[in-house]
Amino acid sequence: MAENGSTNQSDKILATNAKFVPTALSASGGEDLACDSDACDPVDWQTAMRLAVRNSKQLLEILGIPFGRADSSGSGDSAVFSGIQGEQDFPTFVPLEFLRRMKPGDANDPLLRQVLPIAAEDVPQQGESADPVGDLDSLSAPGLLHKYHGRALLVVSGACGVHCRYCFRREFPYQQESGPVDRWNQAIEYLQRNPEIEEVLLSGGDPLTLTDQALSHLIDRLETVEHVRRLRIHSRMPIVIPQRVTDRLIDRLTGSRLTAWLVVHANHPRELDEHVLNALARLINRGIPVLNQAVLLKGVNDDSKILADLCRRLVDHRIQPYYLHQLDRVRGATHFDVSVDHGRQLMKELREVLPGYAVPQYVVEQSGEPSKTPI
Ligand code: SF4
Repeated sequence: MAENGSTNQSDKILATNAKFVPTALSASGGEDLACDSDACDPVDWQTAMRLAVRNSKQLLEILGIPFGRADSSGSGDSAVFSGIQGEQDFPTFVPLEFLRRMKPGDANDPLLRQVLPIAAEDVPQQGESADPVGDLDSLSAPGLLHKYHGRALLVVSGACGVHCRYCFRREFPYQQESGPVDRWNQAIEYLQRNPEIEEVLLSGGDPLTLTDQALSHLIDRLETVEHVRRLRIHSRMPIVIPQRVTDRLIDRLTGSRLTAWLVVHANHPRELDEHVLNALARLINRGIPVLNQAVLLKGVNDDSKILADLCRRLVDHRIQPYYLHQLDRVRGATHFDVSVDHGRQLMKELREVLPGYAVPQYVVEQSGEPSKTPI
């Protein structure tokens, strides 16, 4: 039985157009792997993880993009995808559910740009660092970051449902700081000793890469800390693999004595397809508030019309635009940077066309500050 209660459907690919099925998968699975319409049954989320595309060469082949055409660095170098160091250190990982929202043949597709390693990652830039937001200085117990008053963040998984090239934790030492359930003992003890912590954030990596069973066990433990009242889950899984929103997950969150909030992460309106919005609606319909945070990214959403479309699509579906983050200058991601002046101009334009509740806060995280800093 799969996690979502359906029977095992691992020999089918969910709603993935045949033209998007990687050659290797087609060859290994024959016709069962191909599905010509959106009416196909979805695979469970763990199968979707297993089927994810894991190298840039295959990603471009599926999209019908010759290597030389997708050089977003602007250098015109046609060999940008042949084994850049950035991809070796932080491998490509793109689930088919996300890939199928990209436009075939479009080297500048905004979803593709978020996940495609390019040569610019290997060119060191001033001001970059491995830990731009000071995570490691905030470790209070293994896997537990205590930066802000009243809240603590638990890094519960090093895995993600997609690898975003701009990720500020792309060099986080997950093996040391997250792990099996037993590794959380010290974090739970720390929470017990600090009664001012009323909210625990689950982050990673992506906390929804844990199984429902492991997540439920962790929630059991957090519920024993009497002064913790709220549980906030930060996850991109419902965006990239929407079938991760299982009935069992919803039941566990709504059944907890902790008030659960979900913060998802979408940067472009095209990420919010029907499958994603249906999954999020199931959470919202059961009373779980859903917020969205986005990162301001050059070549992806540095345009007020795109941002306004994203915000409209969110509020049309009862999802609150929460933060628009200035890029954290992690090593290998500076080519995504947008100037603060341009960011301010975009925010001005957003305020001119959107109701106030639909405008996210434009913020930057500065190491050592007691909260995110509004820009
Ligand atoms: S899903 Fe989140 S944690 Fe994972 S790579 Fe993307 S931004 Fe980073």
